[in-house]
Amino acid sequence: MSITSQLQKIKASLPAQVTLVAVSKMHPAPVIREAYAAGQRVFGESRPQELAQKAAELPADIQWHFIGHLQTNKVKQVVSIAQLIHSVDSERLLLEIAKEAAKKQCTARCLLQIHIAQEETKFGFSPDELRQLLASPVLKENPQVTIAGLMGMATFTDNQEQIHQEFHTLKQLFDEVKARFFPSLPTFCELSMGMSGDYQIAIAEGSTMVRIGTDIFGVR
Ligand SMILES: *Cc1c(COP(=O)(O)O)cnc(C)c1O
Repeated sequence: MSITSQLQKIKASLPAQVTLVAVSKMHPAPVIREAYAAGQRVFGESRPQELAQKAAELPADIQWHFIGHLQTNKVKQVVSIAQLIHSVDSERLLLEIAKEAAKKQCTARCLLQIHIAQEETKFGFSPDELRQLLASPVLKENPQVTIAGLMGMATFTDNQEQIHQEFHTLKQLFDEVKARFFPSLPTFCELSMGMSGDYQIAIAEGSTMVRIGTDIFGVR
């Protein structure tokens, strides 16, 4: 199937309030143009260099999201381009993003990445680390960063029940910290969970943003 028909199929299956981030990493610009021509405007990239190159040559009204692990020495490149950074996984990274946003006199919208999978390799805060961070003065002291919500990745498994549980845990954590730390802040509103293999489960568990690559563009 073509990219256009894949996009249309996925779009039709998403509830209206769920944002589709088309994950275009490792796909060249012409492929992204095809999705753009089909109406897609939000794209996700996971490498700073690749993001910068694509943003320079593709239409200016594309909303770029950064979804990959971000090293502090690459923050500069990403802050000026990304409208949302999904993958803030340490206080150190958050502080670096704040510093860079202050220099550029902009605010950086970020999601805090939470470790929910039973895999060593996935980055992110544990639920307790998240609570500690939010209870600390760090966010107040760094108003250049807007925390727009949470992001998480489920374990790569065929066990549907386990995926349900992991996303459910993340949604509960989202509701808990929203009530406790962002009670009257409409800016804390996004729960980024769900990829090609598990986005339907993520939506059933309350996702507001799905990051889909393979199901749109084919295998990388
Ligand atoms: C690559 C990637 C995706 C997309 O994965 P697919 O399985 O191709 O849909 C989503 N989220 C993150 C963080 C990724 O790195």
